[in-house]
Amino acid sequence: MADSYDLIVIGAGTGGYVAAIRAAQLGLKTVVVERQTPLGGTCLNWGCIPTKALLEHAHVLKLAQHAAEWGISTGGAPPAIDMTRVHARKNKIVSGLTRGVDFLFKKHRIERLIGTAQLAGGGQVRVTGEAPRTLSGREIVVATGSRPRGLSIAAFDGSRIISSDEAIHLAEVPQSLVVIGSGAVGVEMASIFNSFGSAVTLIEIMPRIVPAEDAAVSAELEKAFRQRGIVVQTATEVTGAEPGGAGVDLELTFGNGRRQTMHVDVVLVAVGRAPVTDGLGVEQAGLRLENGYIPVDSLLRTNVPGVSAIGDVISTGPTPHLQLAHVSSAEGILVAERLAGLEVRPLDYQNVPVCTYCDPEIAHAGLTEAEAVARGFAVETGTFPFSALGRARIAGETEGFVKIVGEKQYDQLLGVHVIGPRATELIAEAAVALRLEATVEELVRTMHAHPTLAEAIGEASHAVHGGAIHL
Ligand code: FAD
Repeated sequence: MADSYDLIVIGAGTGGYVAAIRAAQLGLKTVVVERQTPLGGTCLNWGCIPTKALLEHAHVLKLAQHAAEWGISTGGAPPAIDMTRVHARKNKIVSGLTRGVDFLFKKHRIERLIGTAQLAGGGQVRVTGEAPRTLSGREIVVATGSRPRGLSIAAFDGSRIISSDEAIHLAEVPQSLVVIGSGAVGVEMASIFNSFGSAVTLIEIMPRIVPAEDAAVSAELEKAFRQRGIVVQTATEVTGAEPGGAGVDLELTFGNGRRQTMHVDVVLVAVGRAPVTDGLGVEQAGLRLENGYIPVDSLLRTNVPGVSAIGDVISTGPTPHLQLAHVSSAEGILVAERLAGLEVRPLDYQNVPVCTYCDPEIAHAGLTEAEAVARGFAVETGTFPFSALGRARIAGETEGFVKIVGEKQYDQLLGVHVIGPRATELIAEAAVALRLEATVEELVRTMHAHPTLAEAIGEASHAVHGGAIHL
C-alpha cells in the first residue's frame, strides 16, 4: 500500500524546496524526495552560494592588495590566499544554509526522503535508495534541475577538464586556466581565478562576451577584463582538447579560420547546463520532452494531468526560460499556490532581474537596446558613469555605468542595465519599476539618497531626457 500525500516534490533545489515549504504553509501534506544528502540542490551546494563566497574572497583579496592606497599598512608582505581556509569558510556557509533548509522542513512538517524518485504513472512515485518505497500523490512537482553541459571535443575528466562543480573545490589555484564560454558561470569563474592569481584565458564562440547582455555592457566588461590581465578571445572556437602531461593541449580556431595550439593547466567548460531527467521514468509516465527539457504551460503544468514541473528542467515555449535560482523559487511558489487552490497568474519572465557577480558586477532587467529596437520601439537611452558619482569614488570602484532603455512615445521604461559596483543589488529597483510599468520620468522623480550608488539609476534616467546633473 503506497503512502499517500497531497503533494510529492522530486528534487530539493531552490525550486523544489521552496515549492514544498509554500505547499506546507498552505496546508498540503507534502513529501520531498532528494537523492543528495544535503538539501538545497545546485544553488546551495555547487552554484550561487559557493561561487559568490569565492567571489567575496576575491573582493577582499583585492582590497588587501590595495590597502596602502587606503592608508592601511599590512606590514609589507603581499597578501596571499590560503585555499584551505578559503574552502573551509565557503563550506561552512554552504553547510549552514543547507542545514537551514532541513530546519525549515522540520518546522513545516515536510517529510524528506533520501533516494531517487521515479514517476510510475497514475500519481505514483517509486523511491529507490536506502529505503525503497512507493508514494502516491494527488499532485507531483518535478524539480530535478540541471547539470553542467559537456563538450564532445573536451570531455570532463574531473581534474584537467572540469566543470564549475569541480572548480569550486580546486585545492590549488591553477597557474593557467582556460574558461570556455562567457556566460554568467564562465565570467564569474574567470574573475575568481584571475583574482586568485591564475593566468586566465576566456574563450567565447560568439563575437562578444556575455552575449545575452546589452552590447555596451559586453564591451565594458571586456575592457575591464583586459585591464585585469584576462585574455579574452571572442569569435573563437575550441576545436581540440587533448589531456597531455600535467595539463591539456588545446586547439583554438579563430573566426578567420586561423588555428593556434596552447598548453594550459586546467580547462573549465562553462557552456551551459543540461536538464536532468535520467532515471525519472519519463517514458512510463508519458511525460513529453522537448530537447531534453520538460515543456510546461504558463501555469507550469506538464502534458500529464497531476504532474507539474519547475526550475532548470523546464522549457516555457517561445519565451526562453532562464536557469536562475529566483526563477525556480518563484515557479515553486506559483505551483504550490495553484495546487492549494489559490488564484495565480503566469509569471512575468520578461522582467526577471539577471545578475552576474563577475568583477565588475553586471545586472539587468527588461530589454536590451537591440531587443527593444527589434520589437519595433522608438528607443531612447540614457547612460551615467559611476566615475561621476561620489559614493563610487569613496568605494574606489569607478568602472562601469547604468544604462536606461526607454521608448519615446509613452516614455515607458523598457530595460535597465548596470555594470559596476554592487550592480547586483542596484537592479532590485529596476525590477520593481518594470513590474509597475513605470515611465522613465517616474524614475527621474524618484528621489535617490545621497551619497549612494543608486543615484546612478536616477542620473541615467535623467540622461534619457538630457537632464543628468553631474554629466
Ligand atoms: P537544482 O538546484 O539543480 O535541484 C535539483 C535537485 O533535484 C538536485 O538536488 C538533484 O539532486 C535532485 N534530483 C534530480 N533528479 C532526481 C530524482 N530523480 N530523484 C530525486 N532527486 C533528484 N542562479 C542564480 O539565480 N544566481 C546565481 O548567482 C547563480 N549562480 C550559479 C552558479 C553556478 C556555478 C551554477 C552552476 C548555477 C548558478 N545559478 C545561479 C543557477 C541556479 O543554481 C539554478 O538555476 C537553480 O539551482 C535551479 O534550481 P532547481 O531547483 O531547478 O534545480
